[in-house]
Amino acid sequence: MRIGSPLYLVESREPCWKCHKPQRVIALATARVDDDDMNTMDGGPENEPLLFKNVESLDPVLEQWLATHEPHYRRHFSRQAGMEYFANMCPGCGANFGDHFLHEAGGGVFPDGAGRG
Ligand SMILES: [Zn+2]
Repeated sequence: MRIGSPLYLVESREPCWKCHKPQRVIALATARVDDDDMNTMDGGPENEPLLFKNVESLDPVLEQWLATHEPHYRRHFSRQAGMEYFANMCPGCGANFGDHFLHEAGGGVFPDGAGRG
């Protein structure tokens, strides 16, 4: 998948499934992608940002930015998926939030325009 810019950082607060404390979680989104299913590279700003799930690799510059500013969003090896991908880790107990909250986020997650490369 190819990802265009602008890239959005979206955030929400979700209760940890393990320790039940509400924690800040983030996701990456862009309105411009190019893969087998769709190509919205030429789309205008009216395109709805798409949230990324199971992100396996990122631009090194972006990865460095995330390591500095969003240290709880980091690469995690999933035994279930058999691969590494970026996920939110609970700052309290270290549990992996996974991506399931993205499906349920609804109005809780919205672009704030931050997080550009
Ligand atoms: Zn927790």
